[in-house]
Amino acid sequence: MINGSAEIVYDLSAGDPGFIAEIKEMGGEELLECIQCGKCASVCPMALAGFPIFNKKLIQAIFFGARDILLDDSSIWACQSCNRCTEICPRDVRPFEIILAMRRVAVRELAIPTLSIEGLKSLYDVGHAVYLRDAGQTRLKVGLPETPPTVLASPEALKEIQAILDQTDLREIGLFPMQGNGMADASEV
Ligand code: SF4
Ligand code: SF4
Repeated sequence: MINGSAEIVYDLSAGDPGFIAEIKEMGGEELLECIQCGKCASVCPMALAGFPIFNKKLIQAIFFGARDILLDDSSIWACQSCNRCTEICPRDVRPFEIILAMRRVAVRELAIPTLSIEGLKSLYDVGHAVYLRDAGQTRLKVGLPETPPTVLASPEALKEIQAILDQTDLREIGLFPMQGNGMADASEV
């Protein structure tokens, strides 16, 4: 369980013996090379921000088979994809890939925080997971074009993004309506 002070208590008798194999299958092939040295934690923004389960702790929890605990905790969704952990790891574990593998397990179980679903929906609807709505007037005041020169200004680019997302399992999972114009042939992108 995870208590209020972010201390994590593992019940080793409740560990999932197939969890390590599942994470390896999902992309964390180098998991067992980890020696728990902690170098990845020393550079991780998630750890600095106080999230309870950052890269090193995630790997430790996987070793313990703590699948249910990890599915109950949203720390993995706070990873910034900076890859500092991968650069510093002396064992080539590629901790960021372990984070991604755990995210894949979580998606399969629909253990996805609302904020992440909103980000995915926004990516599909407007081409940005995070963006400022109604910023046009502010941009004009400081001499910028009302619409930034990104996918927001390019309906064709948005169709391409939607076509790519249409090819993923998102449509089958059904987290949000996907009714864009990209519709399903990413080979044309
Ligand atoms: S993933 Fe690499 S850097 Fe992190 S604790 Fe394991 S061996 Fe050390
Ligand atoms: S990629 Fe994610 S886990 Fe690795 S250092 Fe950056 S924030 Fe931390």
